[in-house]
Amino acid sequence: PRVSGSEWSTAATPNNTESDGSSTAPDAASFTSISGWTFTPKYLSVGRRVRGGVLRSPEPGRNHHDERVPRTGSGRRWSRRRIAMAHDRWKKPAHELLRVNEGFRLEAFDATRTPGWKGGSPGAVKYMKKQGVALADLQERLFADGRSGGHRSVLLVLQGMDGAGKGGIVRHVIGLVDPQAVQHHAFGPPTRVELSHNYLWRIRRALPTPGALGVFDRSQYEDVLVVRVHDLVPEAVWSKRYDEINAFEAKVAEAGTVIVKVALVITADEQKRRLSRRLRLPDKYWKYKPRDADERALWPAYRDAYQSVFDKTSTDVAPWHVIPANEKWYARLAVTELLLEAFET
Ligand code: ATP
Repeated sequence: PRVSGSEWSTAATPNNTESDGSSTAPDAASFTSISGWTFTPKYLSVGRRVRGGVLRSPEPGRNHHDERVPRTGSGRRWSRRRIAMAHDRWKKPAHELLRVNEGFRLEAFDATRTPGWKGGSPGAVKYMKKQGVALADLQERLFADGRSGGHRSVLLVLQGMDGAGKGGIVRHVIGLVDPQAVQHHAFGPPTRVELSHNYLWRIRRALPTPGALGVFDRSQYEDVLVVRVHDLVPEAVWSKRYDEINAFEAKVAEAGTVIVKVALVITADEQKRRLSRRLRLPDKYWKYKPRDADERALWPAYRDAYQSVFDKTSTDVAPWHVIPANEKWYARLAVTELLLEAFET
């Protein structure tokens, strides 16, 4: 049978499903990671035992690849170790440090700071390596849970002005986890089909399936940002969207998705530097869009639009985190930490 759009998902499709839709797997909770290893939760199988599960080599005799597989502890033990490490380096949990609180003013926000981090930039690189393994491990557990009937997923919503580093977050942070568990969507200007539906239609279709890490590179918030700044719909329409988005996100969270909303903020000078670099360097030129310069001129209008987003849509179930992103290493570190904390909730 043909697979319909909503069923067409890497995370939801068992790797062992035949074209007639029937499963030939001995157990539904096994899955094969990108490196070709089959993972089965420990209560289900026999084989080479590792802490937390059983690994079977796809090619017998290639066990020298064992060391590529992160050593996993029991979920709770692993988290305790990870949190102890974080405690050493962060003054507070990242979600507390970076969360938008009442009275937050974007105008007064200093995008050059690296709040709460005690390790400096060299320390961040070392720490990211270790926490990257933890992130991959926690994601793998979530993925296994999704394959055995669990409903949980994590959704990272990324917003930021041109050049703020959204792409770098996707490459350097999301790149740490197994790609088959990632569902990435970049939202550009709506297509004709998308415009014929409500603005949340395309967003709903892109929500992560159970066990997946969803990434929205831009999101429903463009419908109260670019749409507001460019007057694409009347104010009477966009002004209602804040409440609609809150209600939508509350339902998504209730269904089992932990939403991590992140806004990357850079200074106007840093943006200018990054955009002109795109013009100068041949390997960055593809990123340059003449439109970016026009958008830059609208910085104050965007700042007001972002301020309204933070004032109206930072809720208990889906709070906003504003990350100073002039220092790329800090922004990547902070998003990694926020994701780890989300996986541990
Ligand atoms: P980047 O996100 O890094 O700018 P890009 O420029 O390659 O990537 P595009 O496909 O051009 O990506 O889409 C980004 C543009 O789409 C942004 O300028 C954004 O404001 C616009 N956009 C996103 N959602 C909407 C929307 N709902 N209505 C109008 N424009 C939108």
